[in-house]
Amino acid sequence: MPDRSFLNWPFFEDRHRQLAERLDSWCAKNLPVDHHEVDAACRALVAKLGRDGWLKPTALDPANPGPLDVRTLCITRETLARHDGLADFAFAMQGLGTGAITLFGTPEQQRWLGKTRAGQAISAFALSEPRSGSDVANMEMTAVRDGGDYVLSGEKTWISNGGIADLYVIFARTGEAPGAKGISAFIVPGDAKGLGIAERLEVIAPHPLARLSFDNVRVPASALIGKPGDGFRIAMSVLDVFRSTVGAAALGFARRALDESVSRAAERKLFGAPMAELQIVQGHIADMALDVDAAALLIYRAAWTKDTGAARVTREAAMAKLFATDKAQEVIDKAVQLHGGDGVRKGHIVESLYREIRALRIYEGASDVQKVVIARQVMGAV
Ligand SMILES: Cc1cc2nc3c(=O)[nH]c(=O)nc-3n(C[C@H](O)[C@H](O)[C@H](O)COP(=O)(O)OP(=O)(O)OC[C@H]3O[C@@H](n4cnc5c(N)ncnc54)[C@H](O)[C@@H]3O)c2cc1C
Repeated sequence: MPDRSFLNWPFFEDRHRQLAERLDSWCAKNLPVDHHEVDAACRALVAKLGRDGWLKPTALDPANPGPLDVRTLCITRETLARHDGLADFAFAMQGLGTGAITLFGTPEQQRWLGKTRAGQAISAFALSEPRSGSDVANMEMTAVRDGGDYVLSGEKTWISNGGIADLYVIFARTGEAPGAKGISAFIVPGDAKGLGIAERLEVIAPHPLARLSFDNVRVPASALIGKPGDGFRIAMSVLDVFRSTVGAAALGFARRALDESVSRAAERKLFGAPMAELQIVQGHIADMALDVDAAALLIYRAAWTKDTGAARVTREAAMAKLFATDKAQEVIDKAVQLHGGDGVRKGHIVESLYREIRALRIYEGASDVQKVVIARQVMGAV
């Protein structure tokens, strides 16, 4: 039985506690799914999550506009990740992919959200390029104004849902100024002429991922999100909301690793007694529990701070993501160790957690980048 005591913390309201209970029961009945056909599995997960209403918090409700509730996003990601990494991925991308539209879209653009919240359209967020990952301002893809249209040319890579998305939010250079101030954001439909899959990318925890090519892709000027030159600010605002939720997914993986380890230590006999009686094993379990609780405190602090009105949570979100993802890696590594040979056996839950966690320390700002962000915030405040 996973530890639920954190739900009594003052960061939460009763609606969050009820959500955690209801979603956990839903997950127990519906997850994990078979990951072998990853595109089909992802499409089915989005449809199922949408059908049962779980995608509603990922984006603004055009009929009843209000801010995103980051605590709801974090609890949902934590719970889904504890049951199935691909389900968490499917949920997370519906939010990240439409974040710019929720925060800065026109009412016309926000019509997409009715479909993404219902699981009837899949979304993607396309910022990274072959020569600009961490160094976002160095992007090369261009969007050139041509009458009433923009024409997009270049490449995006590492795009989650690349190849299966119905809509992409794309960032491209429009040239109002050099560097970060010359980038704009656009909505590009998945079936746009000239948009192609240059390469499918396979990673250690498979999910739909691609390098995309844009060969003179034409979109109307109404596809521009915000104003020309606002793209970098828009991307950073979206990441500011969703970065804590990456930490929440890591927390879900870490909690599962801890639960599996506690069960294993109770059941497995070593030297004539349960493994749990070995004091070094107890030491590992204590370290894991400490890291899980500390990560949860940082994540829900960041989420609560945002939900209660802070304009930006750059420092809090960076701390939450950095600590939760790095510590989840350590917790899961300990779980693998405590499981002995079974820990590295293909198909075992802790083996899959070991693969699932790694990329979270790289995307949406690598751990090293989070340290730079935190240091700048701390030193800037002095
Ligand atoms: C599984 C997966 C899914 C992804 N999904 C998406 C997506 O949906 N959309 C999207 O746009 N992108 C996505 N990405 C891309 C991701 O955001 C980039 O991989 C990430 O920003 C790092 O960029 P890079 O790979 O080019 O590495 P680089 O920018 O070359 O960085 C390599 C390493 O250098 C170090 N480093 C970088 N900057 C600094 C610094 N300032 N100080 C100190 N050290 C530093 C870090 O250790 C970093 O890991 C995804 C990546 C992965 C692996």
